[in-house]
Amino acid sequence: MSEFSLPGDKVATIEEFETGRNTFDDGHTIRSVVVGTKEFDKTNRIAKINQLKSPAVPQVNDLVIGYVVALMNNMFAINMLYINGKPTHSGLECICQARGAKKRIIARVSDVVMVKIISHLNGAIHATISESELGVLFTQCNKCAGKVVQIGANVKCVDCGYIEERKLSSKFGNSDFIKLGSQ
Ligand SMILES: [Zn+2]
Repeated sequence: MSEFSLPGDKVATIEEFETGRNTFDDGHTIRSVVVGTKEFDKTNRIAKINQLKSPAVPQVNDLVIGYVVALMNNMFAINMLYINGKPTHSGLECICQARGAKKRIIARVSDVVMVKIISHLNGAIHATISESELGVLFTQCNKCAGKVVQIGANVKCVDCGYIEERKLSSKFGNSDFIKLGSQ
């Protein structure tokens, strides 16, 4: 993820390199103009960005389906699998805020979720989960990894009976992920 640049991101310092394709310098720092990967020509001291072809990087309002890879304080990271229903192999992650829901369990690691992109900010791709169709599409029991069924705003394990909160998508239980994200 560190080799991947968004517009405005620092690529190198002007002491180290000259500006190459898809970059500019702000007087101190060489920055990216586009979304892409960095390439350094050390012989000629030129830094450039190889632009990533859309749809590897989702745009604002795109629907993303992926699995949760990390839970942090009030936010979680999602490894993106589908953008608007098209498979993506970029390995990119987006960050989803869980604002105002400190004590609520939104999702667990390895849950499959659908989110909507809201911004590109500070080098990260930000998404929201707070609309009815957004949320967890697939999850398992956190105790025994058993199959779960929806009970109101919770999921209940059919094996051990454990009940836990989730921010469920209105499409929870539908496993046709590609179709879900492409509407
Ligand atoms: Zn269970």
